[in-house]
Amino acid sequence: MKAKKSKRELFVFYSRPLFRTCEIICNHAARIFLKKSSLSSEWVRLELDQLNEKRIGFQRDLNIIGGSHGHVCAECRGKCCGGVRERDAFIDRIIQDPETPNLCARRTEGEMAAYKLLAGKEHGGTAVMAAAPVPDHCPELTVEGCRIPYELRPIQCTAYFCRKTIDELSSQECDTGIRALAGLMKIQVRTVMLAIRSRMGKR
Ligand code: SF4
Repeated sequence: MKAKKSKRELFVFYSRPLFRTCEIICNHAARIFLKKSSLSSEWVRLELDQLNEKRIGFQRDLNIIGGSHGHVCAECRGKCCGGVRERDAFIDRIIQDPETPNLCARRTEGEMAAYKLLAGKEHGGTAVMAAAPVPDHCPELTVEGCRIPYELRPIQCTAYFCRKTIDELSSQECDTGIRALAGLMKIQVRTVMLAIRSRMGKR
C-alpha cells in the first residue's frame, strides 16, 4: 500500500532540500578543512574506510526501495541524470579512494573511483559498460542505464528521488529511505569532522 501524503512529503523534504543543503555545505567544508597530506595517514584512511562501509550499507537500502519504481525510471529514461557534468563530489572521491588525484570541488578530468575499484573484477556490468552513451546527459549514462554499480555511485545519485518515484513508495519504504538518507547525511557531516581533525592533527 502506498504511503500517506504526509509521509511522502517528509521523504521529499529529506531527499531534496535537506540532503541538497547538507551535500553542498559538507563537500565544500570537507574540501576546505581537510589537510590533503593527511589522506596518506593510516588513521585517516581507516576512518574513511569505516565511513565508506556505512555509506555502502545506506546506498544498498536506497537501492532496495528504488526497486519499486523501476518502471517510472524506464518511462522517464533518465531525466534526473540530465546535464553534461561529472556527479562525483569531493567526499565521494576521498571516501571511495583516498589516493584520488582529483581533490578539487568539481572533477574536470580523470574518471570516477568506481573504474579503479572495479578494474580486473567480475562485476556483471559488461553490457552496460559497452553500451552507447546518452547525449546531453551525465557521461556515465548509457542507453542501458548507469555504468556505475549502485553502491559506487556518487551519494547524490542515490539520495535523489523525483516526485513520481516517491509517489510509488510504501510507508515502510519511506521509513527505510528516510533512515538511509539521514545516515548518508551523517556520514557527510562525520567526514567534515574528520577533515577538521586532520587539520588540527587530532585523532
Ligand atoms: S552517475 Fe549514474 S546515476 Fe549518477 S547522474 Fe550519472 S548516470 Fe545518473
